[in-house]
Amino acid sequence: MSENAALGVCPECQKRVNCSVIAAHEKRWSEYDGEIMYSDMFQILECRGCETAFFCRIQSCSEDYHTFQVGPDEWVDEYINRETYWPSVPRFINNTVNIEHLSRKNQQLSALLEDTIRAANEDMPVFAAIGIRTCFDILSVDLGADTDDSFAEKLETLRKNGYIGGKQKGKLEVLIDAGSAAAHRGWKPSSAQLSTLLNLLTMLIHDTYCIDEEVKKIKSRIPKKGENTKTFGDFDEHLKTKNELLEKFESFPGLSRRE
Ligand SMILES: [Zn+2]
Repeated sequence: MSENAALGVCPECQKRVNCSVIAAHEKRWSEYDGEIMYSDMFQILECRGCETAFFCRIQSCSEDYHTFQVGPDEWVDEYINRETYWPSVPRFINNTVNIEHLSRKNQQLSALLEDTIRAANEDMPVFAAIGIRTCFDILSVDLGADTDDSFAEKLETLRKNGYIGGKQKGKLEVLIDAGSAAAHRGWKPSSAQLSTLLNLLTMLIHDTYCIDEEVKKIKSRIPKKGENTKTFGDFDEHLKTKNELLEKFESFPGLSRRE
C-alpha cells in the first residue's frame, strides 16, 4: 500500500476499506531504556469508495500482542493496533458474508446473523454467543442434519457429507461449547473471544452459501485451453492503430510527438 493510503473502517460504508490519508501525526516514546515502546497515531482518512472523511486514532505498545501457534513448535507474535474512530463505528464488522446474498439462500439464518452481530455491538456478549450457536444449528439442519440430533451428531453429519473437514470440526466444537457455556454455565465471552467465534461462524456461512457462486464466476472467466483471448495479431493491430493516430496528430501544425 502506498504511503498516502491506509485501511480504515468507514463510518458510512461500515466496513474496512481502502482510504486516502489526508493528514497524519504520530507520537512515539519508550520506557525502561527502550524496553517498552509506544506509538499513538492520529489520522484523517477519506474513504476511496464513498469519499466520506473521518478521524482514526491507532494506539499500539510493544507489550500488547497476540501469540498464534502456526506449527507444532512454531509461534508467531502479532502486535495489536487499538483503533478508535470518530464518527464511531461498530466494534464487530461483518466483512465476510454478503447479507443480501445470504438472505436469498436462507432468510432465517441471515436475519439471525444480523441480530447476533447487533447483540455483539450492543455489548450483549452472552446473547451473541447463544446466537452464534443457534446460527450453526440452523445451518446444520439446512445441510441435512436432523433437527432433533445433538450438536455432536449435527457436526458429524456435516463432516460425513463433506461440508467440513476434521480440523474445522474441532474448531466448531469450541464454537458450540462456547454457546452452551453462555446459555447454561454463566460464561461471558470477552470482546476478543467473541470476535474469534464470529469469525469462525461467518467463514463457515461464507463457505457454505457464497463461495460456490464466486468460484463459478471465476471459472466462467478463465479462457479454455487453446482459447487465448489476446494474440500477437491483436497486439499488432493495436500498434498499427496507435501509429496511425500519432501520424494524424503530427499532421496538425505546431504539434509534435512527445518522446
Ligand atoms: Zn465509505
